[in-house]
Amino acid sequence: MILKNLWDDTAAGEYSTDLSLRVYTSNLLGQSDELVLHGGGNTSVKSVINNEEILYVKGSGWDLVSIKEEGFAPVKMSILLEMAACKVLSDVDMVARQKAAMLDKNAPNPSVEAILHALIPFKVVDHTHADAVVTLSNSVNGEALIAEVFSDFLIVPYVMPGFILARKIYEMTRGDFDWQKCKGIILHNHGIFTFDDDAKRSYDKMIEAVSRAESYLQQHAPLEILSIKNGREIDLVQLQYVISQKKGFDTVCKTDCSDLARFYASQRDLETFATRGVLTPEHIIRTKRVPMVWMEGDDPEKAVERYINDYTNYFQTFAKDEICLNPAPNYAVIQNFGLVYFGKNEKEVSVMADIVQHTMKAVLSADKLGGYRSISLEESFRMEYWELEQIKLISHR
Ligand SMILES: [Zn+2]
Repeated sequence: MILKNLWDDTAAGEYSTDLSLRVYTSNLLGQSDELVLHGGGNTSVKSVINNEEILYVKGSGWDLVSIKEEGFAPVKMSILLEMAACKVLSDVDMVARQKAAMLDKNAPNPSVEAILHALIPFKVVDHTHADAVVTLSNSVNGEALIAEVFSDFLIVPYVMPGFILARKIYEMTRGDFDWQKCKGIILHNHGIFTFDDDAKRSYDKMIEAVSRAESYLQQHAPLEILSIKNGREIDLVQLQYVISQKKGFDTVCKTDCSDLARFYASQRDLETFATRGVLTPEHIIRTKRVPMVWMEGDDPEKAVERYINDYTNYFQTFAKDEICLNPAPNYAVIQNFGLVYFGKNEKEVSVMADIVQHTMKAVLSADKLGGYRSISLEESFRMEYWELEQIKLISHR
């Protein structure tokens, strides 16, 4: 299915200010879950207030689909551009300086990508984690495929989001870089930016670019989900009990035995197949890097213990002074059964289910392109334990 352009002239005609039109196209982007899910992506518009150039950028904790004017943080452009020119800037300093540069101190914290939005010399900037784009990028031939499909884009190798990414783009676009010829930006293993001085054109460019990636996938890696009959029976109550014990609280479980989940859980070499990392880095705070894989004939308690052991090793390999998060799995791929998600409440498990459903399709498609490959273990750890990501779990509304 090719992405729909949801722009409506009559609806858009009701918005006369920069910010109100920005809200409208942000909501449009948010309505397509092939573009962003649950707090993913961010948008901005540059405007002028009392002769001062301001970046209205998505505030942390808001979803594009439901964001309102008060969800945007008004930040002084001059300060953001000053920060972009710094060689190094800690997360703490970035957040403090962005906060000090806000016109309205009651507005939400600006997105971690605020400096990058400021650097792009167009009025309207849209950023999504479009499934089709990250599917191409997260394939073993991702570099060549992205270069082929997005030859008119600036293509950026994976680096941590936030200041490091802004700084990378600052360096790549200094000097005689021609922004007018640049249709957008692809961030490998992460997502895509489009921009324009006009809100509709920036939105149109996003839809057009993502449709290119979708067409490529349709042609070269069409998704085929076979219906699997006679699935395995499992004792869910026992599994829920084991997980609750290990997590230290009563977990809510959600089962997914859809055709997609069953097909996914019946793949060969499942323990390797299902543990190849997240589709876009920010998903890691919800799903962790990998699920627990419970093979047929295995004892569930042993499978959970093995997961905790592996997670603890991963933590110890990369941790400096971080505190280990709960090491129990957030979801399980259960061979010949489907998937089960574990969380504190219904909201948490349904957010996870949405994210993993998109990931499963991407993994199956990328395998048809030669293999799925996400960011490295170390990059995953940096993202999972990034303070500015963990904060999102607390502030998310
Ligand atoms: Zn992003």
